[in-house]
Amino acid sequence: TNIEVATPKRTKDIIQKYGFSFKKSLGQNFLIDQNILRKIVSAAGLDKTKGALEIGPGIGALTQHLANEAARVTAIEIDDRLIPILGDIFADADNVHIEHGDVLKLNLSELMARQFAGLSGVSVVANLPYYVTTPILMKLLEEKLPLENIVVMIQKEVAERMAAKPGGKEYGSLSVAVQYYCEAELVCIVPHTVFIPQPNVDSAVIKLSVRKQPPVQVEDEAYFFRTVQACFAQRRKTLANNLTAYVGKANREQLGPLLASIGIDPSRRGETLSLQEFAALSRALIAAGF
Ligand code: SAM
Repeated sequence: TNIEVATPKRTKDIIQKYGFSFKKSLGQNFLIDQNILRKIVSAAGLDKTKGALEIGPGIGALTQHLANEAARVTAIEIDDRLIPILGDIFADADNVHIEHGDVLKLNLSELMARQFAGLSGVSVVANLPYYVTTPILMKLLEEKLPLENIVVMIQKEVAERMAAKPGGKEYGSLSVAVQYYCEAELVCIVPHTVFIPQPNVDSAVIKLSVRKQPPVQVEDEAYFFRTVQACFAQRRKTLANNLTAYVGKANREQLGPLLASIGIDPSRRGETLSLQEFAALSRALIAAGF
């Protein structure tokens, strides 16, 4: 496949040839800009010893670039209508595998073991369907898949929340969850004009470098995330107020000394706490029997 898929003309030709119509409900916005595609692929740091897992190949704009850079590409596509089109476009590409299915339902660790055995590392690289960005990313992270990094085009607001540092209004439980598993870095902001059809929201590319070890020690991950959720339950309330709802009114007097013991002022808001402070808080709450 030497002819590039992702030019406006080629994309229109393919769509016309197969009588394809975009489904908004599947988040179908195809990339038509070679520069953006190169930027996405280069951020993943692929080479011929590595694999790329793509989610939602569409008509293969990004797949084609990945196939040139990586040893092997596996692309998961949910839309039945795209499977024969991808089959034609990648008929001669023996390092491309198209997996027909819903990424949220597939057993990804089994798929990865099958497709990427023997490679030195795997990246997820994708222009994600925006209606399911967060569930897809949380699935990749919570299942602790053996990934080096995740480079994805997503809605700009979501990218900013994932990469946000404590103290700002974008920082929330999503920032904490993503940064517990990864180092997050905004690669670039992307204009509407690089897609057909153009989405209504601004987009950004984010790179998540998966950590080998979490940056903080927590005894119980599920409990840690519940604590974080509790601290952000009502954003304008103080920690003391949000945590009262969590431990119950009858136990509220215990909160002052508990927070003092870990050096956290009860009048602060959840959005000012670092990962280290959330971890200390969840350990203290567990130790106190909550
Ligand atoms: N990668 C192509 C590109 O950049 O031009 C298409 C990207 S488009 C934003 C998202 C793609 O994800 C579509 O092809 C859509 O059919 C597919 N998709 C949507 N939901 C999916 C799901 N749950 N599992 C797998 N693919 C999905």
